[in-house]
Amino acid sequence: MQRPAKPDNEAERLRALHRSGILDSGSDAAFDDLVSIAAAICGVPMALVSLVDTDRQWFKARLGLADTETSRDVSFCAHAILDPGQTMVIADAREDLRFRDNPLVTDAPGIRFYAGAPLLDLEGLPLGTLCVLDDTPRKLEPFQLKALDALSRQVSSLLELHRVSRELKLQLQDRNWYEDQLTRFSEQLELANADLHEQVRLDALTGLANRRALGAALELALEGDDACCVALLDIDHFKAVNDTHGHAAGDDVLVQVANTMRAASAGHGLLARHGGEEFAWVLPGVGLDQAVLQCEYLREAVKFASAALPVTISIGVASVQPGDIIASLLQRADTALYAAKHAGRDRVMAG
Ligand code: GH3
Ligand code: MG
Ligand code: MG
Repeated sequence: MQRPAKPDNEAERLRALHRSGILDSGSDAAFDDLVSIAAAICGVPMALVSLVDTDRQWFKARLGLADTETSRDVSFCAHAILDPGQTMVIADAREDLRFRDNPLVTDAPGIRFYAGAPLLDLEGLPLGTLCVLDDTPRKLEPFQLKALDALSRQVSSLLELHRVSRELKLQLQDRNWYEDQLTRFSEQLELANADLHEQVRLDALTGLANRRALGAALELALEGDDACCVALLDIDHFKAVNDTHGHAAGDDVLVQVANTMRAASAGHGLLARHGGEEFAWVLPGVGLDQAVLQCEYLREAVKFASAALPVTISIGVASVQPGDIIASLLQRADTALYAAKHAGRDRVMAG
């Protein structure tokens, strides 16, 4: 028996075969149909789509044979791919030196006749063959050889289709992976941004100072001997804005009110978001009367701001008293705010 030689371009050929992803794939009716047609046209009991791998030939489709693969050493097809330009025909394997003592000839399935048309990829590399076999010697008529040739091109197209659809699937998986990564990355970025906002002491929504910055400003105000006031400013009936127009519109109103107050305060004191729809304004060096006037100005600015959703604010103001701590100062401002709400809202009260 003559072992099949390796083609000159074996490494390249194997790369193409492995890239196709066809080896050890599941059965496929399209390939099965083509081997059935090949066997019927040639009038033989056996036909295969055989792919010649490193050390084996593996059958993508088979008719009349039980094995799914054999070693490459005994493969007829491994000989056929050595001359990829033509169909290899063995009329009687017992009379061919290469195959006479091949176990596939001497034992089951007792091959006598073989005709294998190489399966070429787009670069012309032979990946295997479409072959027909018989256990009695025979010849093929020219029309049968032509049909086998034509069918082998169909099988080659199917292999190409398999390769392309597999690559598309992989690309799709890649794309999903990248999208996942992107989502995760942007979530991390958002978290990092929130941290950053905290670190820079700004409220993420309104850009005003946050609670932490407010605490620091109040501590500073309580340390000194100078006059200082703190105002609590609360949007009136804000819940109705959310309920009627939705939370996103509510957020827009918060931003709009914050912007108006920032402009109206003109950098005096420290404006902060105290929480929810409540703001605080720390006014160092300002007495209560003056603070009330400044708060009135802010209240009017909010009321008359040209905005999609008009709103008003109520304000409670308190001045720092000897012995105050943050809680007691805020408590007095809050009591004044509560009074402003009760008195009808859209007004300033001093505590
Ligand atoms: P009042 O005039 O007595 O202050 O009435 P109000 O409706 O403004 O006050 P209430 O405390 O009943 O409701 C405040 C609402 O503010 C409830 C809450 O869902 C909403 N809120 C708090 N924080 C936010 C926020 O960041 N965005 C939005 N859209 N709504 C918020
Ligand atoms: Mg409110
Ligand atoms: Mg409130």
